[in-house]
Amino acid sequence: MKSTITQTIDNNADRFKAISSFIAANPELGHEEFQASARLTEELAYHGFQIERGVLDIPTSFIATYDSGKVGPVIAFLAEYDALPDLGHACGHHLICMMSIGAAIGLKSVLAETGGSIRVYGTPAEETKGAKVPMAAAGLFEDVDIALMAHPYYTYEKSGESLAMDAIQYEFFGRSAHAAAQPYEGINALDAVLQLFNSINALRQQIKSDARIHGIISEGGKAPNIIPDYAVAQFYVRSASRTYTNELVQKVLHCAEGAALQTGCTLKTSFYEYSYDELLTNETLSAVFTEQLFAMGIEPKDIEIGKDHGSLDLGNVSTQCPTIHPFVKVVDEKHMLHTKEFRDLAMQEPALNAMIFTAKALAYTAYEVLNSPELLSKIKAEFAAEKK
Ligand SMILES: [Zn+2]
Ligand SMILES: [Zn+2]
Repeated sequence: MKSTITQTIDNNADRFKAISSFIAANPELGHEEFQASARLTEELAYHGFQIERGVLDIPTSFIATYDSGKVGPVIAFLAEYDALPDLGHACGHHLICMMSIGAAIGLKSVLAETGGSIRVYGTPAEETKGAKVPMAAAGLFEDVDIALMAHPYYTYEKSGESLAMDAIQYEFFGRSAHAAAQPYEGINALDAVLQLFNSINALRQQIKSDARIHGIISEGGKAPNIIPDYAVAQFYVRSASRTYTNELVQKVLHCAEGAALQTGCTLKTSFYEYSYDELLTNETLSAVFTEQLFAMGIEPKDIEIGKDHGSLDLGNVSTQCPTIHPFVKVVDEKHMLHTKEFRDLAMQEPALNAMIFTAKALAYTAYEVLNSPELLSKIKAEFAAEKK
């Protein structure tokens, strides 16, 4: 029956490539992906999926469902389709969405026999305010048996880890004064920000090696002859686990409180973006995907161990259901994500072929799970143990 999946994806390959190319040529930023969302849901509706648009009042999100009518697992494929400012689709999300949708349409062709149901989650704004966060918080993945997606890259990498992350803003309020005439009347908010940076730099010596704390001064005063009464720093605090990230956030808060005390400022903290959890890769499911790649002719030496890739909003999904996020090779030259070199190559025919190839690998992976209750229970046992 795998041949039915293959045939279905091959028969639709030109359509899938045309949609991906359209999205690449019309890049839209996070939460503005109206054209992409429309094209993707039209395609899913054409193939018989039921479409719910604007999930949780997120205008460019969607959930597309195809139910076999027979009891069985719920298979989720996740679609991203947002672009980057100036760079367009330099992260290859125009490929991600059609890898997942191609896989869903391929898998649908055998669902009458396997039973179960397929969902495609259209998840906007991965690069900024990742919609997977509110979708996960609303429990939309809780009844999902497995969630799959793949990310374009210059090499193959097994699904690995990503860092839990909090985005925190520290606002310091002081009092302005003439910096030469009456400096003693002032309370310098910029000094508080500088102290915060210095304290964090001292803290670095005592933190785990997987932690990352990095920030900018987003407001630091108006003119050198005015003591700044208001200054703002924005930081990302990240580490390999949510638990340790929470600890770090407390330590950084103490640095900020100390800076406020030293300078006489008052402090206000807030989150300026969603918090991401770390990605919990389901190793059992990940191994099934890797096996499919081997069977399709990819050699073990070509698949690297998953390395750290910053933070992903998929982390929050992975705490709700068994999840994988492998990287797949779509370009032949070594270019990093978020570069125009990667973007240009990711729009060309070899990348589109890699997208079709990956859609098949994702569909075959889901097919293996649909066909083996033992495999699914192993996947779920690992998930339960990891969640504790
Ligand atoms: Zn990106
Ligand atoms: Zn990306």
